[in-house]
Amino acid sequence: MEKFCVFCGQKPTQKNNEHVIPQWLLELSGRPDRPAFFGFDHKGSEFSSRIFSFDSFKFPACKDCNENFGRIEDAVKNVIVRLKSQNVILGKDVSLLLDWLDKIRIGLWLALYYLSKNQMNIKPPRFHISTRMAMKDRMVAIYESDASGFKINFEGVDSPVFSLSPSCFTLRLGYIALFNASCDFLVSRRCGFPYPMTVERLNDDGLYNYTLAPGLERAIFPIIRLPLIHTSWQFYQPIFAANLMTKNEMCQSLYSTPYVLRHSLDFDKGIGNVFTQNNGRIGLISQEVEYRIGELQYETAWLSKRLKDQTLSIQAQLLEQLPVSALVRKVAAQNRRWMKLPYLGAQGK
Ligand SMILES: [Zn+2]
Repeated sequence: MEKFCVFCGQKPTQKNNEHVIPQWLLELSGRPDRPAFFGFDHKGSEFSSRIFSFDSFKFPACKDCNENFGRIEDAVKNVIVRLKSQNVILGKDVSLLLDWLDKIRIGLWLALYYLSKNQMNIKPPRFHISTRMAMKDRMVAIYESDASGFKINFEGVDSPVFSLSPSCFTLRLGYIALFNASCDFLVSRRCGFPYPMTVERLNDDGLYNYTLAPGLERAIFPIIRLPLIHTSWQFYQPIFAANLMTKNEMCQSLYSTPYVLRHSLDFDKGIGNVFTQNNGRIGLISQEVEYRIGELQYETAWLSKRLKDQTLSIQAQLLEQLPVSALVRKVAAQNRRWMKLPYLGAQGK
């Protein structure tokens, strides 16, 4: 397999390696060289576990790309440390956290593609971290459990649907769990932004043609109609970067409205503001407010199991909402079998 940079997708220049789960996070959680579980290798009908040290979970990258993306790691470190030590996140940090979750989610997808040497015969990735980060609507729901310690696990990243479409995963950092999802128009309609009236499949590689309608210009509760485990804070962000990039005047004019402008963090880059959802109420994020996540604490084994089910079934649902082929529909149905497999990442207590 040709090596490619996980950030830009090109042949890596001045070869370097990216820790998909960053070194600073490994250090926060214990010894970076401890063994962890990274799914299964399949040879015919035989399966063997991939177990190797956490800090060798790294993949090709260009030196420059790695340095550029190092800035987001430096910035997000404080956000994770604050979540870990005080159970709070500042309003101004949520969009950054969502950027970082895009980076980790796509990084894990490319990492698993490398590790499985493409066992499922998936075509080479057509996007990479730099072309997918902050490009599509996204959300995060933050949960807390009574787990002790700060073990790192990720759920849903070795499933059949994720290998086709890395739309959602759960990152568990000890007692904090981040359920993250991102796909085309995940929240647009119910955040009042332009939304697709019709969608047509262009091919089986995940390319669709959308016909957009003007936004409803009001937020509708709940912002997504998916069966999410209840939590104190959920954050939703419409992103229209890809729609601005189409240079289609009709499409651009749908976004040039006072409502979209008022509800954007960076209109020119197509970055919407963050909508909050808390106990049945929708709001817009306030930059300096501290959002406390520890109001609800779940039993750790129960939460882990339920978050895994939630991740795998929402992956399937997001795919099934689209006009996919019969073959892809089969893959979505298979996804539910993955619920029985062990979690990836740190093992034991
Ligand atoms: Zn690169």
